[in-house]
Amino acid sequence: MEGISCDRCNKSLLIDEDVRYQVHIVVQAAYDPMEITADDLKNSNPGSWAALIQQLEKLTEQEAQDQVHREFRFDLCPPCQKIYLATPLPGRSE
Ligand SMILES: [Zn+2]
Repeated sequence: MEGISCDRCNKSLLIDEDVRYQVHIVVQAAYDPMEITADDLKNSNPGSWAALIQQLEKLTEQEAQDQVHREFRFDLCPPCQKIYLATPLPGRSE
């Protein structure tokens, strides 16, 4: 439990603050697995799969991974937690 600092302002959390906050963000592709029907499979053809594979080959491993799942974990001090809660999605127009 030592050496933990705020990921936003770098303040040491255990010495300077009684409380720290953990932010866990998961960004993942959302889809319903039941959307694929037998008809979809019947209508897919080797050409469409080849095109998809070609598309994936152009991505780096990290890019391909980011398209599906990405996780972030941050530790925040109380002042930074307040700031984060005020704008969890920076750039979003209200
Ligand atoms: Zn902070």
